Amino acid sequence: MDQLLNSRCVQQHIFSLLESCKCRKKLSQIHAQILVNGFSQKKFLLSKLISSCISSGNLLHAHVAFHQIHNPTTVLYNHMIRGFARSSTPHHSFLLYNQMKASHAQKPDSFTYSFLLTSCSTPSFSIHGQQLHGIIVSTGFSSCIFVLTNLINMYIATSQGNAVADARRVFDDMPLRNTATWNSMIAGYLRCGDADAARRMFDDMPERNVISWTTVIAGCAQSGRCKQALLLFHEMQKARVEPDQVAMVAALSACAEFGDLKSGRWIHAFIDEVPGFKQPRLVSLNNALIHMYAKCGVIEEAHRIFEEMPQRSVISWTTMITGFAMHGRGEDALSVFKRMQSMGVRPDEITFIGVLCACSHAGWVDEGRRCFDHMIRVCHITPRIEHYGCMVDLLSRAGLLDEANKLIDTMPIEPNDVVWGALLGGCRIHKDVELASHVGGQLTELEPDRAAGYLVLLSNVYAAAKRWDDVARVRGRMVQMGVKKPVGRSWIEVNGVIHDFVAGDQTHGQAAAIYKMVDEIMKQAKLAGHIPDTSQVLLDVEEEERESFLHFHSEKLAIAFGLISISDEGIPIQIVKNLRICTDCHSTVKFVSKAFNREISIRDRNRFHHFRGGICSCRDYW
Ligand code: ZN
Ligand code: ZN
Repeated sequence: MDQLLNSRCVQQHIFSLLESCKCRKKLSQIHAQILVNGFSQKKFLLSKLISSCISSGNLLHAHVAFHQIHNPTTVLYNHMIRGFARSSTPHHSFLLYNQMKASHAQKPDSFTYSFLLTSCSTPSFSIHGQQLHGIIVSTGFSSCIFVLTNLINMYIATSQGNAVADARRVFDDMPLRNTATWNSMIAGYLRCGDADAARRMFDDMPERNVISWTTVIAGCAQSGRCKQALLLFHEMQKARVEPDQVAMVAALSACAEFGDLKSGRWIHAFIDEVPGFKQPRLVSLNNALIHMYAKCGVIEEAHRIFEEMPQRSVISWTTMITGFAMHGRGEDALSVFKRMQSMGVRPDEITFIGVLCACSHAGWVDEGRRCFDHMIRVCHITPRIEHYGCMVDLLSRAGLLDEANKLIDTMPIEPNDVVWGALLGGCRIHKDVELASHVGGQLTELEPDRAAGYLVLLSNVYAAAKRWDDVARVRGRMVQMGVKKPVGRSWIEVNGVIHDFVAGDQTHGQAAAIYKMVDEIMKQAKLAGHIPDTSQVLLDVEEEERESFLHFHSEKLAIAFGLISISDEGIPIQIVKNLRICTDCHSTVKFVSKAFNREISIRDRNRFHHFRGGICSCRDYW
């Protein structure tokens, strides 16, 4: 009797040891104790041992323990099958499944099939997945929502290109579905880049949980539908679904892309106020806040969050460096970079894109060369096309066009449109028409969509040199290739509403007042000695007409609207533009900031311009 009691105590003790143990070495010691005490067939102990081994990443040890059990239960089989399904040797789960069936003692259950489906989640296993689908139907599991949802997940994970069709067929045939089933289909459509279908699924689903909302919000944000993402986020609030940190990260990234500071601040306040969000905040959520504030023009706030972070990942450092770079604050970017290294954080390739960008925006050629060299020699990072793009940009802006051209000639990868665009940008600034036309000759190979940007640049270089024949030739080529000049778009948020403008826009409700304001600005600017820079207008029309084209650029319309509708001079006017700001708009805005005594910031495709008192933070170097 005593002995039995004693044995029970030991078993209990071993069980509680297993419950708290995560370390591999200790697990082996506990396993030895199990064997020494003659408990090798106590299935509850072995089951616990095996699951602890698997969760501590020691699958082989789990497998050894499993082999010592006579007639393992279905639960034990499932533990092992699940362990192998997520390992680098997923085919072992099928060996175990075959062993289980051969034993005739245990029957596979819905978990067995679900874990087996997980093990087929790479394209190379898709054939096994299809066979498994057949087995599931023949063994009567084809009405189990759990198994079929995993079947959908398997088809989505193994589908290549746009093939969600298999998953959809399973979905359509299901007599009953739950929220997880719908969520899987939404994620599947997003994975294939079909945001419309994902949205339809989301709209059709009978009940949504936080995962449904987060998936569709993140999907919209990633596919560039930031406005939609933010609208959904607000709808989620109305539906009284408490967002989790992942949903917040998705919504913040939409705010960042859209430059929607107001919503970004609102989310930040929400995070601070809702008790569930207080601590510990995910590092990725802090990173998202830094990114949002940096992209919405409030770099100081981004910096404050960065400094207050209890823990930082390499992404946090990189986000801060890139943020400073965008704002033309090269010194701050490099000092963060130095601090990062002195704290032993290894910069990655994305960090170096930020660092090189910072050098480029600040015009630091030597520092840029040094960093590029450091990246290769010290950090052993092979430069990617983006790094070459930054270097070509850096050299070209600084007027070292020959060196930039040589770098392109000697780089081991095929140059892309970004690299050529950087060189052309340099040709435009330094008025090197010969090199520009040489570059133009190299570019015939690229796809029309990619060609659009640099063909416009090329024609701008010709226009600046008043070589109208060449401008016409490039334009002819654009028409031939079916290339359209990308539409310039600027937007501004006033009282929580985003106002969107394209060049020559007449659709705005206050269009008449806006155009009157633009005329006023241009008249005053001219009186103050501003000479319109028509060199970037892509048409060989009369000078006067080209001037009026300039007046209707989207950023001018947005600024005029900002001046009309934000009467408080203390509130800065913030504008986001999808392309680069043109030289004429840039000098006009400088003038406006002085004449109207307004702070204006414009985020263009590359960086921020903060205008104050007639000066821009980029010091006219962009
Ligand atoms: Zn412009
Ligand atoms: Zn500027």
